Parts: sequence; C-alpha cells; structure tokens
Amino acid sequence: MAMIEKVLIANRGEVALRILRACKELGIRTVAVHSQVDRDLMHVRLADESVCIGPNSPTDSYLNIPAIISAAEVTDSVAIHPGYGFLAENADFAEQVEKSGFRFIGPSASVIRLMGNKVSAINAMTAAGIPTVPGSDGPITDDDQKTLAIAREIGYPVIIKAASGGGGRGMQVVHTEAALLKAIQITQTEARNAFGDPTVYLEKYLENPRHVEIQMLADTHGNVIHLGDRDCSMQRRHQKVLEEAPAPDIDQEAREKVYQACINACKAIGYVSSGTFEFLYQDGQFYFIEMNTRVQVEHTISEMITGIDIVKEQLRIVSGLPLQYTQDDVKFNGHAMECRINAEDPATFVPSPGKVTHFHAPGGNGVRVDSHLYSGYSVPPFYDSLVAKLISWGDDRDIARRRMMNALDELVIEGIKTNTPLHRRLVRDAGFKKVDFTIHYLEKMLQE
Ligand code: ADP
Repeated sequence: MAMIEKVLIANRGEVALRILRACKELGIRTVAVHSQVDRDLMHVRLADESVCIGPNSPTDSYLNIPAIISAAEVTDSVAIHPGYGFLAENADFAEQVEKSGFRFIGPSASVIRLMGNKVSAINAMTAAGIPTVPGSDGPITDDDQKTLAIAREIGYPVIIKAASGGGGRGMQVVHTEAALLKAIQITQTEARNAFGDPTVYLEKYLENPRHVEIQMLADTHGNVIHLGDRDCSMQRRHQKVLEEAPAPDIDQEAREKVYQACINACKAIGYVSSGTFEFLYQDGQFYFIEMNTRVQVEHTISEMITGIDIVKEQLRIVSGLPLQYTQDDVKFNGHAMECRINAEDPATFVPSPGKVTHFHAPGGNGVRVDSHLYSGYSVPPFYDSLVAKLISWGDDRDIARRRMMNALDELVIEGIKTNTPLHRRLVRDAGFKKVDFTIHYLEKMLQE
C-alpha cells in the first residue's frame, strides 16, 4: 500500500493551511479550492494547483458539492479533505465523493449519518456501553402527557436539544414544568428553520459540568487508539474559546474506563479516521453528549502532548496504511493550551473583518501558531471569524499557561479587532489557574 498522491483541500483559512502542511511533509501533492475573494489565502499560494469554485457566499463555494467534485475531477485528485465546518460532517457529501471515485478523508457516510443525528448517536453509544446524560432516549413525540412524564422522570432543569443541531445552536434550558411544552414548540420551529429537521429530544441539564472530550484515531485495519482528553469548558454561547490537554483534575479510574469504552464504541460502529467523543464531566462521572466525526479545531493540543500528527495519520489512514502507533506507543508528555483568536470586537463580539495592516506571530520554546494571516491580508466578512490559533506547551500546566501569557503579549494583529484581550484576561484569571471552573465560567466572568 502506498501513500495517496494528491489531495484536494475542501476548506479555507487556518485548517486548509494545516492540511496543506501535512500533505507537503508526506510528499502528497495539493489542490486548493477557493471562493473569488479567497484567491489571496496563504494556502492557495502554496498549493501545487488551485481552482476557483465560485462566488464568495459559502453556499456557492465551500458548500457547493458539484463545484468541489468537478475541481477534483479536473485536477485528478485522489482524496478530498473536508477540514472542519462546511461539508466536514455532511454525509451526503461524503457519499458523493466516494460515488464519484474519490476517497473521503473521514469515516464512512453511514457512520457520519449515524453520529450526525444526536438521537441515533446517543442510542448507538448506549448500545456500545458509553455513559450518556439521563434523557428521553429518543425524539419528543406529540404525546404531551408522555413528554411531561419523561421530563418529570429526568427531573428539572432539562435541556431541549435539536437532533440535527450543531455549532452551539438549537438548545434551550427549561426550569419548570409550566414552561416545557411551549419551549419544545419553539425549539422545534427553530430546529426546522436552522437544520431542516424539527426533531428534538430532552436531556437532564447538568448545572456544574466541565466539557471533556476524547480524541480517537482508527484505521481501516481495525486498529483504534485514543490520544487522551481535552478540557473545553471555556465557552461562550456553547462555543469553545480556550482548550487544554490533558483535562486537569480528572478521576483516573473514570478516565481509564471511558477511554476503553470509546475504543470499544469505535470498533462497534466501524469508525475510521480522526474523531472525538464529547462528554460532560461532573462529580467524577462522564456523560456522552455527541461525537464529532472529523478533525477538530483543538486537535493541536493533543498533538502537542503526544507528538502525534493527527492530520498526517488521517492521510495515512485514507491511503489504507495502518496506524503508526499502538496504544502502548502513545506517551503523554506535559500540558498544552490553545487560544482561539477570532476577528471580533473583544467587548461586543461583533465580527471585525478587514485588512490586517500588521501581523507579528509570537514564538519561543513550546509555542506554536496555526494561522493563515500575513501583513496585508484582508479578512473577508463571509466566513468564520477564527484567524489564528495560539498553542503553548510546557512540562506542566503552569508553564504552558505562562508561555501562553507570553505568546498573547507578543502577538500583534493590527487593522482589525480580535479577542486577544479576553484571552489575556482568561489566562491570568484566578479560577482558571486553580481549575475552579465549569462550562458556565466564562459567561459569568463576562457578565461581571
Ligand atoms: P453542538 O453540537 O451544538 O456543539 P453539544 O451537544 O456538543 O452541541 O453541546 C454544546 C455545549 O452545550 C456543551 O459543551 C455544553 O456546554 C452545553 N450542553 C449540552 N448539553 C448539555 C446538558 N445536558 N447539560 C448542560 N449543558 C449542556
């Protein structure tokens, strides 16, 4: 079996550059696809070939399946890497890629479909022995008495969640029985409008959890390993802002058990490539909430503590090669943090696109910067506002944190506003330093 020869990168920004770098290291040729405004992206300049796939609107470009498949055809690409966001978790896209004779860098379309619906994902995980949040274990029906009985059984507060939801949207917390049915109706309407699927389900709303997730890698030979956990509790509007690995202060026994359960679950569903099981962690217990069937923004911190390049492993896996590591080969070393630098106003969070007049990346021992920015680059208003990921590594959590403080102080992005001031505050925060936080911590801090 040999490494594939050419990869089309169906994404933009930092992740497109991340994928391009991995391809180049492995001697794989690269095709960049881009919208009109994105012709000046860093990875477009560095790719072996590039194809403009349409106008600036994501629907016309990065979500335009026929245009992406045509670009793969004209460039003789072998495989397509979807990155994260856009079409990364679109089962129909994965299916069409394969039907058109290309390889999709990710799990099979049927696994994406299974895990893409949170209700079927929860059922599959329960069957595989993964602990889940107490809930309705299925969609809410129009039998109101039954719904009320389920919620009473779960106990208030409950959270109504859209089965097809994502990106922190399609969720509502309900504290009293009187408010439940109305809230369900509203969430169903919102879910239909946002995701084209009105299905919602109920879960116990955990009041003081942390978000802890587990990074998996699986090849086509049945080998499955985990790369440890990450804490992503620092969130705003259910969106991650700062992540760290390993998750600090986790019960070691519970952790070992959940690692093994994740390995078993991957085997049970025939999982292939990179994937993440997301859990809420409260009172020493893990509760599964969803699986992401792709490489995640925060995969970098697992790379820093294991020395394993997750994107390169994905490229090996899609080539039919076995994983280079057994579980025993995976050694955890030190601590890593990642700050998501967004082009947005640090106080109002309103996006702040525009020309970056000056960019200076931080450096030094244990500092990694994944960013497509350069001086003179214009951040377009059409896409996600993530412009850089600052990653720090240290022998222990405090050194990683201090290196992040340095990196944030060294970073210069002029011409646009970024959330760097928020990160500067966060890494100096007493509660963050002491690991005295839950998923609600950052929102509370912002309210004060
Ligand atoms: P999405 O697919 O939109 O990212 P998730 O199911 O991953 O949605 O949930 C995102 C975030 O919402 C979690 O990290 C957590 O902060 C919050 N959340 C989700 N389910 C619950 C729950 N049952 N109790 C408390 N918070 C929850």
